Amino acid sequence: MEKATQDLAGKVAVITGGGGVLCSTMAHALAAHGARIAVLDLKAEAAEAVAEAIRRQGGQAIGLAANVLQKESLQAAHEQITKELGPCDILINGAGGNHPKGTTSKNFLFPEDLNNQQEELKTFFDMDPEGIKFVFDLNFIGTLLPTQVFARDMVGKEGATIINISSMNAFRPLTKIPAYSGAKAAISNFTQWLAVHFSKAGIRVNALAPGFFLTEQNRTLLTTSDGQLTERGNTIISHTPMGRFGTPDDLTGTLLWLCGSGSRFVTGVVVPIDGGFSAFSGV
Ligand code: NAD
Repeated sequence: MEKATQDLAGKVAVITGGGGVLCSTMAHALAAHGARIAVLDLKAEAAEAVAEAIRRQGGQAIGLAANVLQKESLQAAHEQITKELGPCDILINGAGGNHPKGTTSKNFLFPEDLNNQQEELKTFFDMDPEGIKFVFDLNFIGTLLPTQVFARDMVGKEGATIINISSMNAFRPLTKIPAYSGAKAAISNFTQWLAVHFSKAGIRVNALAPGFFLTEQNRTLLTTSDGQLTERGNTIISHTPMGRFGTPDDLTGTLLWLCGSGSRFVTGVVVPIDGGFSAFSGV
């Protein structure tokens, strides 16, 4: 009987956004199964801190500054990774996120909102195209460019795999965040497209779609300063049949499965990891 995750030993895994909350946990999980890790992040210190923690635990890892929106920056990282760890086997496109300028302040538009002079009210009509462009670039172009830079080495390689990070909002958009919802829908679509395109090249492409994980980016949206749930936090929990937010290690089992040979005939899927949120109609 094949051991589905032991085949990660010695593989080189490149993780963008690896200094962040969810992707640093993924980096540790892959390292614990013997993969050699390149942690890439816009913030060099964050990347190095994760790599250093992995090395302290006996794993092999390097941390590098790289901007997923700049091909030259990714090419420089690629060169260093190839020299220090070898060519990439596993690419995790983790860098992503939202921006306040791609967000409306209310769930619904009411006629009276159009005459409201309050500066803090941001309706659909006030949304800044630059904010929307930022979110689409970070999530979509920030997945496309690292794939162009690292997947070339993966063509024809045994066990080559790409994991993109989509989101719940890709299945059905979440209120207030049209740019982030649209950008993650593009990631799910791209995952399917790329899976087909790379199917003859031996590279599998799948995505994780995390539900609601309490992280620094969304903590103030979901909880108050005294740790209670906000109205939005409450709505999420009441629509999550398993009744809680996710924790980063909830992603680990699915990640290891998709990276290992246990999923060797799986490509083009987007796996919800959401405590049942996407299955629940609310009644
Ligand atoms: P995070 O902010 O902790 O991590 C994101 C990391 O990406 C940060 O370390 C940041 O420095 C880095 N980054 C930002 N811009 C970059 C760039 N241009 N180049 C390279 N690195 C860059 O966020 P997280 O919550 O851990 O999210 C990780 C991924 O999971 C993101 O794609 C996010 O959209 C997705 N996601 C998160 C949740 C959630 O509930 N937290 C849910 C669904 C999907």
